[in-house]
Amino acid sequence: ERRDAVRRWQGPAATSDGIRQQLLANVGDGAAARKAAGGQAEGVGLYRTELGFLSAEKEPSVEEQAAMYQEVFAAFGGRKVVVRTLDAGSDKPLRFANLEHEDNPALGVRGIRIAEREEGLLTRQLDAVAVAAREAGATDPWVMAPMVATVPEAARFAELARERGIVPGIMVEVPSVALLAAHFLEHVDFLSIGTNDLSQYTMAADRLSPHLAALTDAWQPAVLTLVALTAAAGAKAGKPVGVCGEAAADPTLACVLTGLGVTSLSMASSAIPAVGARLASVTSAQCQEAGRAVLAAPDARSARAEAARILG
Ligand code: PEP
Ligand code: MG
Repeated sequence: ERRDAVRRWQGPAATSDGIRQQLLANVGDGAAARKAAGGQAEGVGLYRTELGFLSAEKEPSVEEQAAMYQEVFAAFGGRKVVVRTLDAGSDKPLRFANLEHEDNPALGVRGIRIAEREEGLLTRQLDAVAVAAREAGATDPWVMAPMVATVPEAARFAELARERGIVPGIMVEVPSVALLAAHFLEHVDFLSIGTNDLSQYTMAADRLSPHLAALTDAWQPAVLTLVALTAAAGAKAGKPVGVCGEAAADPTLACVLTGLGVTSLSMASSAIPAVGARLASVTSAQCQEAGRAVLAAPDARSARAEAARILG
């Protein structure tokens, strides 16, 4: 019966009492964006721009980058596209940049931290996004930085983006950002929670380790507490807070995140119908009750069980 509901589901997404949720796609290139646009995605919540960089012998020029980004903007016409700036590091090395070996790459010079050493890499990317958006007729492109940990990093990023007519946001992947979300929101216009890294850094467990999957689980109440803090700060500031990690693609967890006040969910486009159908099967009051229950749970297993009991 549930499978039928998934097949029949049509967006836009809402709970059974009509409270809207925005469902967006995670994409890595123009082809994925066109596929997502042909399905039920309302836009792109995470465009991982690494693809054009990680395989390149030298840094793609601004024109080359703009051509790549333009494909993604064009796939969605004027609709929402959130571009993430380059998320590289010694685990995702750039052949053309000199990132030295690190013993703990997950805790090393990655994401926005690279801009500290090579600001030109970031500003050229932002230039390319601005050109691409303009050429595709996307009026206010949203761009977010990965791996931000401090308010000054966010403030600097926001300044560079605004100088180029770009709407700045940051990812919430490091617990420090969730804890100080209100301060970050004084500088940026939106937040997007990357639950894959947020779980890794909250639980001190490598997301790539097959032995630690029970720890790097977004159902961990500690992780969900950070999500709740972030969403509450966003609501208070009147600014959007999305989730773009794997958690958004878990239909039951998507209802919980909705109940915690998350304003968009971004996932592999193939996951959208299952999430949409699940949201349509519950009320917003159930989502909120499930949100309260997971925050009170002592561990991930009981959080799952409580949410399943409440959401049916
Ligand atoms: C995340 O960390 O949750 C995220 C969406 O970014 P990535 O998976 O690309 O690290
Ligand atoms: Mg991440």
